[in-house]
Amino acid sequence: KNYQASENRYQQMRYNRSGNSGVLLPAISLGLWHNFGFVDSIQNGRDILRCAFDLGITHFDLANNYGPPYGSAEENFGTIFNKDFKPYRDELFIASKAGYDMWPGPYGNWGSRKYLTASIDQSLKRMNLEYVDIFYHHRPDPNTPLEETMVALSDIVRQGKALYVGISNYQPEETKIAARLLKELKVPFILHQARYSMFDRWVENGLLETLKKSGTGCIAFSPLAQGMLTDKYLKGIPENSRAAKDLTHLNIETVKSNIEKVQLLAAIAQERGQKLSQMAIAWILRQPQVASVLIGASSTKQLKENVEALNNLNFSEATLKLIDEIVLN
Ligand code: NDP
Repeated sequence: KNYQASENRYQQMRYNRSGNSGVLLPAISLGLWHNFGFVDSIQNGRDILRCAFDLGITHFDLANNYGPPYGSAEENFGTIFNKDFKPYRDELFIASKAGYDMWPGPYGNWGSRKYLTASIDQSLKRMNLEYVDIFYHHRPDPNTPLEETMVALSDIVRQGKALYVGISNYQPEETKIAARLLKELKVPFILHQARYSMFDRWVENGLLETLKKSGTGCIAFSPLAQGMLTDKYLKGIPENSRAAKDLTHLNIETVKSNIEKVQLLAAIAQERGQKLSQMAIAWILRQPQVASVLIGASSTKQLKENVEALNNLNFSEATLKLIDEIVLN
């Protein structure tokens, strides 16, 4: 069936400026790391993308290696884009990245000009796009000069293959240097993508401050700690959950060792009239430097629940303190 986007799609979502740039991002964005590979149901992926856009989520986040297998999330996205989203291309802000293992040999990983240049071309082909809105270096490469990587990003923009650039997982010092280089190159560096949740607060130790100074926005990934900061694991470990699948860093052990904290946090959320997932998202959005919270979802139900986080973004000092006491002790 043809997709007709909801007429009300811009009524609920909030849009935040990314740093000092011209770009507004939805407060909640959708990532395609999991649930969009060839191992997953493409119909479910299609439902999730449609539902997201209908809710005002204009930003979809991909990377060369999302799947599994590598590349398959971009390929599935390309298929769905062709069927459903072509008429809406100018309403979408689409990201891809390169920086992790992608293809065999010395040129399919890390941060060389060789790798990034080949990778963006592959991504565009898989997604059937002429350009991405933002292209990221996915992680710092200790063995490639930062200048080589930044000039490669800059050239990708000049060639019209990306409109903006970003970096991900860079420490504050590396970020400062990257920002300086990109400024010299006059490339719009608008986003740093970093892991941030109630359980992982490293960005508070200098990164957010650094981004404020350089006028760069932050987009927070794994805001739900891959699903731990939801109601999902309160009564055990559901069979089809990410922890049970044990695909990445989230496994049954991690869930078990955190479950008491999760239960206490869920009780606080309930007092706020929210689900835990919603409180976890709202907690991140209280940071002014964070333009968007980048969630994942395996169903439209989860997605809808998460977007309702926007109904209560306020925290009292007492609640924030209580959350810290639970999480940090
Ligand atoms: P989250 O912390 O939001 O975890 C998403 C998972 O949590 C879902 O797939 C689902 O898992 C579960 N979940 C989500 N909402 C609910 C809900 N309401 N109730 C119950 N369970 C829920 O984020 P991700 O770790 O998926 O990361 C988000 C995006 O960030 C990625 O897609 C990617 O684009 C980006 N990212 C970037 C990285 C980088 O290095 N730059 C690294 C990692 C992610 P389940 O399958 O169990 O249902």
